[in-house]
Amino acid sequence: MKGGGETPLMAQYREIKARHPDAILFFRMGDFYEMFYDDAEVAARVLGLTLTSRNNGGAAEVPLAGIPVKAASEYLRRFVAQGFRVAICEQVEDPKLAKGIVKREVVETITPGAAFSDDLLDSARNNFLCAVVVRDDAVGIAAADLSTGEFRLITALLRDADAALARLAPREVLVPNAESGTAADRVDALVQPLGALVHARAPWEFDHERAADALAQQFAVASLEGFGIGAPDAPAVGAAGALLRYLREVQPSGLPHLARPVAERPGGVMPLDEMTRRNLELVESLRGGEETAGTLLSVLDRTQTPMGARQLRQWILAPLTDVAAIGARLDAVESLVNEGTARAALRDALDGVRDVERLAGKAAAQRATPRELRALGDSLARLPAVLSALRRTSCGGVLARLVDSWEDGASIASRVQGTLVERPPLGFEDGETIAPGVDAELDDLRAVANGGKDAIAALQAEERARTGIHTLKVGYNRVFGYFIEVTNANRDAVPSDYQRRQTLTGAERYVTPALKAFEEKVLGATERIESIERRVFEQLRAEVGAQIAMLQGIALRVATLDVLASLADVAAREGYVRPVVDDEAVLEIERGRHPVVERMMPRDQFIPNDVTLAPDARMIILTGPNMAGKSTILRQVGLLVLMAQMGSYVAASRARVGVADRVFTRVGASDNLVRGQSTFMVEMAETSAILHSATARSLVLLDEIGRGTATWDGLSIAWAVSEHLHERVRCKTIFATHYHELTQLADEFVSVRNYNVAVQEVGDRILFLHTLRAGGADRSYGIEVGRLAGLPGPVIARARALLTVLEGEQLVPALAGTVRTARAAEPITDQLALFAAPDPLVERLREIAVEQMTPLQALQLLAELSAAARGESSAPVAPPSGRP
Ligand code: ATP
Repeated sequence: MKGGGETPLMAQYREIKARHPDAILFFRMGDFYEMFYDDAEVAARVLGLTLTSRNNGGAAEVPLAGIPVKAASEYLRRFVAQGFRVAICEQVEDPKLAKGIVKREVVETITPGAAFSDDLLDSARNNFLCAVVVRDDAVGIAAADLSTGEFRLITALLRDADAALARLAPREVLVPNAESGTAADRVDALVQPLGALVHARAPWEFDHERAADALAQQFAVASLEGFGIGAPDAPAVGAAGALLRYLREVQPSGLPHLARPVAERPGGVMPLDEMTRRNLELVESLRGGEETAGTLLSVLDRTQTPMGARQLRQWILAPLTDVAAIGARLDAVESLVNEGTARAALRDALDGVRDVERLAGKAAAQRATPRELRALGDSLARLPAVLSALRRTSCGGVLARLVDSWEDGASIASRVQGTLVERPPLGFEDGETIAPGVDAELDDLRAVANGGKDAIAALQAEERARTGIHTLKVGYNRVFGYFIEVTNANRDAVPSDYQRRQTLTGAERYVTPALKAFEEKVLGATERIESIERRVFEQLRAEVGAQIAMLQGIALRVATLDVLASLADVAAREGYVRPVVDDEAVLEIERGRHPVVERMMPRDQFIPNDVTLAPDARMIILTGPNMAGKSTILRQVGLLVLMAQMGSYVAASRARVGVADRVFTRVGASDNLVRGQSTFMVEMAETSAILHSATARSLVLLDEIGRGTATWDGLSIAWAVSEHLHERVRCKTIFATHYHELTQLADEFVSVRNYNVAVQEVGDRILFLHTLRAGGADRSYGIEVGRLAGLPGPVIARARALLTVLEGEQLVPALAGTVRTARAAEPITDQLALFAAPDPLVERLREIAVEQMTPLQALQLLAELSAAARGESSAPVAPPSGRP
């Protein structure tokens, strides 16, 4: 692309573009950002811009697409939304003063993960940029939200890392650029499902020691220990090194507002895998997308501030596992539930608190506008009311800590409110920004400017009197400044000291020395006013920005308070109860409800149910026809446990929750065609993940495992999976199934209980009672449901007839006997081979009639069998006869 006679401008462009190969370059030329070459073609394709061309010396034509600077933010938004990075290259010197070509520099790069502006952000969720690195069995994740300044260092076990990443839901991820190897594969497997923009970076950028130095430098500390960061956090520190480096590239002017890093290690929070998040519809509905209707989040979110909304989402995705920490949250919610008036006052005070976190971030990055800074000040000014409402409660748990560490930035609030006018205009040229009384010179100049206007009115009256021209006007325009306008009809009355400046069709414009002197004074004052306003504002903004750490602390406290108040409000409105949360292995739910489904029904229509799981009754086999409500109960139990562990009240009349280390769900036949796997394959992969990860402290909720294959395969798998969970894992399990044969598990294992969701047959119709009853369903009602769904009469009749035949001929035999025999023959160590083809040796042994054999025959047979067992004899085992 380098032409012989390349113009200097294009040479400059090429040089800058070479340093930003992965970004669309917005190249500032006057009032436009221009894009050239491939960037222009991408812009034409993605944004539908018209492609033109520009001459680059000689005959070379360069493709070009331009956008007006004024409209840039919309184009930028569309680029970033589609996962592009955009480097903004500005003219960094005044074109009037430039010798030769104007100097240009990239001042920032905007990417999906490194964005500030409101139109690129969703106020209800964080905008994280993550760096991820795998070190042996640990994963280091560094996460920064540039819009709020949050900075987290998470070290997770390899198996929990996907959950941690999903919770952050980053829009952009940095990974080490290793060509191959297991670490690279693992990073790929973690990052790929996120659907984020991924950048490969040099592996040394993730180096732990180098990173520790860079972090210490960024936060101006000698070592990271002061932040509670040590050896166990090494992988995350390494990731943070790469993250910081990248952030410095995209924000060359610095990262003044990044909060001190907070380290997270495995243990404190429950990792929630993707299928559980999805199946329980925690923050996204199964329909997918950003839609939150029908999710747990939508039910619990009565937050008043954007910080609170973001925090609630994080709490839902990270339930706690520490009884004391859960108790502290519940104590706080309890205080707020019990004290309704204080809660209402608190919520009132929080209402109107704007996004302090993001506004503070903007102030620190010197990006806040006068309006935004004023909004920050006004928000802070509401906080004393928040505190006094809080003091009216008994301040249990977390609330007490919030009150103790209270800080509301009162001095910042009064500085901002005292300095800026109540409603600052959009731009400095549009009106007064700085309040009167702040700057003496400013006040004087304003008097002059305003007085000047009065004086001009006086001058107009005076000239009218002097000349007798009643239509004489004093006016102003940009080119000629102040002038006196006289219509042609009155031209003869113009005095001799008027100097003509401009001729219009019907009038002439004049100036006088007195008018010019005036003009100088007034215009000088206006210009000076604008520059003082800017200076005072920028100083204020820098002052506020310097308090970023304190402001972030305030934002965090407001967010926490907002979430607690929201949880309390929902609990009070919906009639939830405080769960007893302990370390026992018992889960008891009395009159539990599904918090989301009950909200979609008229009040009190939802039918509550009791569920108990304990070490001696740790598995429930849940049967019942389609539509009876099995899935609802299953999900309800999962949701109630998660709610309890996030510190929320629960939809039940009484609940006792022994903390679960993990909750797993595998619900329905949700297929994953996007990843190109068959439904059944996905089902088995997900089931396998559960069997490998669950512990005795886990809660496992399985719905319809094994439905994706032939009946006998499916039933066998379902049986073996249940057996494994019961005997090996020993976790709490609810297994919802149509295979009513599985109810026989209760005969085999002492800690299995059968329940069914009741239906009533009225004539040949079935009535769904949605009530849980002890005992298994004896049949599956599939045909009745088919009839309800409108299958033609003859098909239903034929199906009924066939069912009678099949059952009558015992083609669907009872399992119990078979299974018991198989169990007796197979040691527990090989349960998954439960339904494997019979072993010929075993078959052979079974048929021996020892009492009819001579000792010699017995000995011979024994030698033969043992050789066969060792695989030594190629000869088949003697025919199945023990008779001589
Ligand atoms: P399938 O086997 O077809 O998946 P299912 O037994 O799992 O059916 P659900 O999907 O849980 O049935 O419930 C079917 C419908 O019944 C729900 O959409 C809901 O409207 C209603 N329902 C379920 N449980 C209750 C309840 N406890 N009270 C009132 N309505 C309920």
